Amino acid sequence: MDTQELPDISGKTTVQALKMLCSMYPGKIIFTTSFSLEDQVVTHILCSNKLHVKIVTLDTGRLFEETYKVLARTRERYNVPIEIYFPDAEKVEKMVTQKGPFSFYESVENRIECCHIRKVIPLKRALLGQKIWITGLRSEQSNTRANIKPVEWDERYNMVKYNPIYDWSFEEVKNFITKHNIPYNVLHDRGYPSIGCAPCTRAVAPGEDIRSGRWWWENNSKKECGLHAR
Ligand code: SF4
Repeated sequence: MDTQELPDISGKTTVQALKMLCSMYPGKIIFTTSFSLEDQVVTHILCSNKLHVKIVTLDTGRLFEETYKVLARTRERYNVPIEIYFPDAEKVEKMVTQKGPFSFYESVENRIECCHIRKVIPLKRALLGQKIWITGLRSEQSNTRANIKPVEWDERYNMVKYNPIYDWSFEEVKNFITKHNIPYNVLHDRGYPSIGCAPCTRAVAPGEDIRSGRWWWENNSKKECGLHAR
């Protein structure tokens, strides 16, 4: 598949589009979750419609305890395997031995190095051989995500991305979670709209940009970990 062959989902509901993709690419569809509210919506849609999609999460080794709890509750609720990808132990050992456990606070380069080792390399391993990558990205989430399309070509990983809730508002996401009683990370109730690794995420004040609590010590406006580089 190349950029000329984006699947045509026009006129289809999310579930119809997902069913079409599952029949077109059996065993080649992956969904990556960080257990965000958005990802929980997508997990619910996939699992409640029994769609055969490989569900994967990246355990960086620095996640919040609350994130592991929502992982456990999601496994129980949907009774589906969620594949866990860890970073390469030798790479983490070398980085932490040489630079200490908080190197990411010292420079953008160090932060990107840590995200690369703990997130990007394991993600590449997870995506290997897959054709369609489903995400819970929304265009409203940040200025770097403003131009997201429902179906797009991911240059970095050479595959099609399907963003089924790209145009949902935060209200719609929250209402869906409540309506279906979907397990979610309790940190969302404590002022954390966007949750990543524990040392790199903090609560935000009401009305603040929802991603401003991520890598808050950095001043650049394109704060992404490299998973969804745009
Ligand atoms: S978010 Fe922080 S701890 Fe997590 S991988 Fe990136 S730099 Fe490392």
